[in-house]
Amino acid sequence: MNGHDAPGGSGTSVLVIGGGLAGFSTVRQLRALGHTGTLRMVDPEGLPYDRPPLSKAYLLGHTDQVGLLLADAAWCIEHDVEVVTAAVTVLRPDAGEAELTDGTVLQADVLVLATGGTARRLPIPGGALESVLELRTRSDADRLRGLLRPGMRLAVIGAGLIGAETASAAQELGADVVLIDPVDPPLVPAVGPELARRLHDMHTDRGLEVVTGVPVSITCDAGSHTITLEDGRAVTADAVLVGVGISPNTALAEAAGLETDGGVVVDDHQRTSHPRVYAIGDAARIRTGDGTLQRRAEHWESAMNTGQTAAAAIAGVDLPVHGASWFWSDRHGVHVEGVGSMTAPGTTVIREIDGAPAIAFRLDDDGYLTGCAAIDGGLAVRAARRIIDRRIRVAPDQLADPTVNLKKLAR
Ligand SMILES: Cc1cc2nc3c(=O)[nH]c(=O)nc-3n(C[C@H](O)[C@H](O)[C@H](O)COP(=O)(O)OP(=O)(O)OC[C@H]3O[C@@H](n4cnc5c(N)ncnc54)[C@H](O)[C@@H]3O)c2cc1C
Repeated sequence: MNGHDAPGGSGTSVLVIGGGLAGFSTVRQLRALGHTGTLRMVDPEGLPYDRPPLSKAYLLGHTDQVGLLLADAAWCIEHDVEVVTAAVTVLRPDAGEAELTDGTVLQADVLVLATGGTARRLPIPGGALESVLELRTRSDADRLRGLLRPGMRLAVIGAGLIGAETASAAQELGADVVLIDPVDPPLVPAVGPELARRLHDMHTDRGLEVVTGVPVSITCDAGSHTITLEDGRAVTADAVLVGVGISPNTALAEAAGLETDGGVVVDDHQRTSHPRVYAIGDAARIRTGDGTLQRRAEHWESAMNTGQTAAAAIAGVDLPVHGASWFWSDRHGVHVEGVGSMTAPGTTVIREIDGAPAIAFRLDDDGYLTGCAAIDGGLAVRAARRIIDRRIRVAPDQLADPTVNLKKLAR
């Protein structure tokens, strides 16, 4: 097989490795497009489930395992999707084969890598302790939930999106939370400095202890943890959760000789360097037509979108058009959304509501919007996304003026 004859078409058999949101999005979209070929999803976790609730509604007990599912067994039967509960250990792209832990070999015309990421551990003494928690899977959430009780002290290292959400939920469950991050405030690249400041200050306002410092070691003695910081300070806690990002799961791709570079490298069709293999979701990294390697997205919508793109590419239909990348997050009863890039060259314009920064816009030097983030401003972010996608020029004073309806600017 050469680079031009990638298998495709409605009868193609497809094996999706990793049944999270991205993998599920591919099989769902393939069936929606009328695909008739065999569809299989392999994942040691079984039926596909949604991860965002793990640090929100699921941790708080507002939804259960069934509520997390993206698709149940009945959906899989109805759509003729086979879910294989196992891990793939070896990928043989030329042969279209994936070998499972027990030695079983599955075969398909097309392989889709949707292996997501693994929570990063801190590379410090004690960072790999079994008692140090992470939050990526349902069982991670179950473990954390089992430890949280009123009055227990939880240290959360990393005050980014997941760390902050978890800290907020743990406090709601009565835990005494200390949040540690080397940066003050964190999240500037995602929401800009003004909103990042306001969001970070919410922790102290709500009674969490916030510590700025670099952890250099973690020890555990008789169930009590001590986190030592670079400047010698020590933080003690009953439990420690580390939320410092993920590493993309690229080992299968690397061993199979596919191109990887901080993610499995794909083109705008989600095609890897092997014509039979696609990669999607958190594990994939797009190289655009001009050769630029994009930042790997680690957000829900991007996992869904890239899954749909791969489905269209496999089915041989027009690729869906997706807008600027979007994410959301929830903490302390507020809802945060962001779209596009808040780090592109240019200036930031702030819209204040009730005297506090509520919406941040990033404008390039030609007056085009490149990014927007908002606290409790979902409609504004939606309008900003249209402005970005349609490349409408906007005036900074209009963006800053709370009486100007952003929807009108987006027309
Ligand atoms: C706690 C938490 C909260 C989040 N909150 C938000 C939010 O509020 N907003 C937002 O935009 N995004 C959020 N995200 C991010 C979003 O959930 C992810 O971007 C999305 O789940 C990525 O989907 P994925 O399918 O690429 O990867 P994953 O969901 O990680 O799925 C990958 C799957 O691959 C499987 N797998 C790995 N290796 C193998 C193998 N060798 N063989 C077979 N299967 C394998 C894994 O078991 C896993 O099920 C959150 C993530 C987490 C963890």
